[in-house]
Amino acid sequence: MAEKSTPSLKEQFWDPVAGFGVTFRTMFRKVVTEQYPKEKFPTAPRFHGRHQLNRWPDGLEKCVGCELCAWACPADAIYVEGAENIDDLDENGQSQRYSAGERYGRVYQINYLRCILCGLCIEACPTRALTMTNEYELADDNRRDLIYEKSDLIAPLLPGMEQPPHPQLLGDEQAYYRGDLATSSVDASDRPAASRAAQEPSEEGRA
Ligand code: SF4
Ligand code: SF4
Repeated sequence: MAEKSTPSLKEQFWDPVAGFGVTFRTMFRKVVTEQYPKEKFPTAPRFHGRHQLNRWPDGLEKCVGCELCAWACPADAIYVEGAENIDDLDENGQSQRYSAGERYGRVYQINYLRCILCGLCIEACPTRALTMTNEYELADDNRRDLIYEKSDLIAPLLPGMEQPPHPQLLGDEQAYYRGDLATSSVDASDRPAASRAAQEPSEEGRA
């Protein structure tokens, strides 16, 4: 049987200390642990987070219910049902126009159980109705609440915007899509707030 050798001085005194080398070095470094969710850090500006359905400066919706976003989605996460805008007033004298175009998105859903936040849908959108925000808190404790409805995705009304349905306040349909809203035929005396909003950048989510 081999005789057990006596540990050297290095093995007795230095090696146990060296074993804690990484621990000691790390103790004096800046802490990198993020205290989420107590502390939230901004994402990169072009981070792909929750979608947003944008509005024109008068509050009308930009979505025209064309479904191109749904067809572009590789995960089949978007469901759109379009409907016709009607300019005739209903029996209550109320306009039935929701967007600047022939149609609008009557039903709009994004299923965040499927969405992989790839951004192909926002590339496909012809009116820049659909963009993506930096919001990344898309978790829940049930599946139903992760199917976002139009009411969850639509951009908030900014000052000067009116809740649709209402007529096109910024001019004819062409005026909306030519990009010359600032010079469109808004009656400044009737619609000062809408006119002001038309000249200011809208609060679109980032693409
Ligand atoms: S981000 Fe990608 S996966 Fe999500 S809805 Fe758009 S196209 Fe579909
Ligand atoms: S979000 Fe854009 S692509 Fe999708 S239905 Fe509306 S207008 Fe069409």
